[in-house]
Amino acid sequence: MTDTGSLGGFAAATGLVGAAAVPRTGYRDPEVSPSGAPTTTTHLSPEQTAAHRALVDEWNDRLEGRTAEEIMAWVNDHLTGTIAVTMSMQDTVLAELAQGRVHDAELVFLDTGYHFDETMDVAREVDERYTLPLRTVEPVLTVEEQTATYGPDLYRDNPTACCRMRKVEPLARMLNPYEAWISGVKRVDSELRKNTPILDVDRTGRLKINPIVQWTDQDVEDYIEAHDLIIHPLTRQGYPSIGCATCTLPVAPGEDPRSGRWAGSSKTECGLHL
Ligand code: SF4
Repeated sequence: MTDTGSLGGFAAATGLVGAAAVPRTGYRDPEVSPSGAPTTTTHLSPEQTAAHRALVDEWNDRLEGRTAEEIMAWVNDHLTGTIAVTMSMQDTVLAELAQGRVHDAELVFLDTGYHFDETMDVAREVDERYTLPLRTVEPVLTVEEQTATYGPDLYRDNPTACCRMRKVEPLARMLNPYEAWISGVKRVDSELRKNTPILDVDRTGRLKINPIVQWTDQDVEDYIEAHDLIIHPLTRQGYPSIGCATCTLPVAPGEDPRSGRWAGSSKTECGLHL
């Protein structure tokens, strides 16, 4: 059962839930992103896109039931060019799977400026542990610049706009040099994700690979233990799903692991995987 009393107290303390919207008169419309950087990913050529669609058609069903290690080996055998491995730093499963299997891969981390200190510590440890290069991608505006431009605490009044400027658009820019990217989406994450395929072609023609899409949360825990992976300390303190500190609450035992994300709003996805 949810401890609404303690969560409500935490939320009131952080201003996450139930706080009054801050008037935004005099600030820029949050639907208008800051200038100075692309907000979208360039489309791959029709030929590259068609090649990726052909891989999906030929391999998606055949990869179903294969292990994550086998899927990573398939990536190494069937793709050319550098592959982006997206890392939330909640865990380091994708880095461990890619290391030594996908030879031309880069670990990519979106630093929104709102992460927990513990998340930034994990990022530093990942950089030390793995030989795959770690690329950190940042929004156009710092948190302070966003506050000055769009008003304070945009994440509270308009989390969709905040996620767009601090996650979706930086990821879109980041993907430009890559033909394919690997994500840690799992079907058990949410109703929206329950039909996620192993291979997909995103709206820009890039191949998106979801090697642990068949895993359960227990599979993740078992893998972390078996490979002695870096532990994000908050995952042991009631935070089974970790995003920005401003938008993540602890979850009571037995609750939906993602229910602490954007708690108190109808938002369930940042938009990276839609
Ligand atoms: S999770 Fe919250 S703080 Fe982070 S980018 Fe989205 S709205 Fe902004």
